[in-house]
Amino acid sequence: MTNSFEYRGGAFFCEDVELRTIADQAGTPCYVYSSSAILSRYREYVNGLEGVPHRVCYAVKANGNLGILRLLAEAGAGFDIVSGGELYRVLQAGGDPARIVFSGVGKTREEIEYALAQGIHSFNCESEAEISLISSLAVRLGKTASVAVRVNPDVDASTHPYISTGLKEHKFGIDIAEVEGVYARAAGLPGISLDGVSCHIGSQLLDPAPLVEAAQKLLGLVARLRAKGIRITQLDLGGGIGVPYRCGDPRPDVGAFLQAVKKLVAGSELFLMFEPGRSIVAEAGALIARVLYRKRSGDKEFIIVDASMTELIRPALYEAHHEILPLRQSSFGNVKADVVGPVCESGDFLAEDREVANVLPGDMIAAMTCGAYGFVMASNYNSRPRPCEVLVEGAGWRIIRQRESLQDLIRGE
Ligand SMILES: *Cc1c(COP(=O)(O)O)cnc(C)c1O
Repeated sequence: MTNSFEYRGGAFFCEDVELRTIADQAGTPCYVYSSSAILSRYREYVNGLEGVPHRVCYAVKANGNLGILRLLAEAGAGFDIVSGGELYRVLQAGGDPARIVFSGVGKTREEIEYALAQGIHSFNCESEAEISLISSLAVRLGKTASVAVRVNPDVDASTHPYISTGLKEHKFGIDIAEVEGVYARAAGLPGISLDGVSCHIGSQLLDPAPLVEAAQKLLGLVARLRAKGIRITQLDLGGGIGVPYRCGDPRPDVGAFLQAVKKLVAGSELFLMFEPGRSIVAEAGALIARVLYRKRSGDKEFIIVDASMTELIRPALYEAHHEILPLRQSSFGNVKADVVGPVCESGDFLAEDREVANVLPGDMIAAMTCGAYGFVMASNYNSRPRPCEVLVEGAGWRIIRQRESLQDLIRGE
């Protein structure tokens, strides 16, 4: 947890706003984000890369709210997108198309045309067929598209299997053992400038060693491609480092990791890019919920709250751990309980068998470290309107996305 969230006199604050005030006025469930936490994490990357030509492209998929995108666009960030929808969001938020990298394993013709028309910085491609398609669409539009091949470096990222992407058996990228042939065949295609090498080996990496190993392998590849006359000028090392989800866990040191990478690329005359998502926004966000009921069933104690897997699916999907903290500290001690939502699924829990504050109906809790892959994965399952989102700036706060209404639920039907 960053110090953007802290207790002051027993009340839980985000920056200089008491969270209870937000919950009372905006309602629950509700996502709350700290703008200073977001900006300080972004600046850690920018400062860490000082001295080498670079761009930090925030991975929009972690949290695509326009308010957050605008904050980062104003700070000078680039953006990593994985769909036409994310491109639309970035443009609406005032993001500079010339700083956008388009990643993803299956871009459609319409998405590629949209991105070409907007003049994005580059495409990270994951198959030969896609490179050919980009080439022919660019020729037709009279454009030259900068293209990097996403290389699968066959590095074990040792993270949760659902968010590990850098092993041979994964669908992502092109095997490093085969990629030189792909570069050789694609180098002559019209309409593209094949000038980049990219990778992304997985998310929530707490140990930077596999990232450094991937960088080493990619630099070897760059040297071999250059020796064959392919002018590689850009190296994109993918997503960012992991974050501590458990209270007291150490936070991986972004600065030290970037220092190690800078040492490797020194003298290579490469424009260096990163696409961090989670590490920029995860710790900046909390999901606020109200306790509805308490119940005991056999030996088990349940805390039933008004947030569920439809607001935060990470515990069900990745067995993720989110600290649960009360908005007001009390003298009622702790209780071992499951914190569950109202959705008709046994997988609907925010915490299982957890020692948490002994909160009572009407009390509020915060599920911490929810700023990344939280709201963006929210659904309307069980016809639950998606929650509102709030951005805190110092002593001020505003709603950056309204809570959905019942009418919103049936729009388009
Ligand atoms: C998901 C993803 C990212 C962001 O990863 P984080 O772990 O959130 O930093 C970056 N690049 C690509 C290609 C991705 O798929």
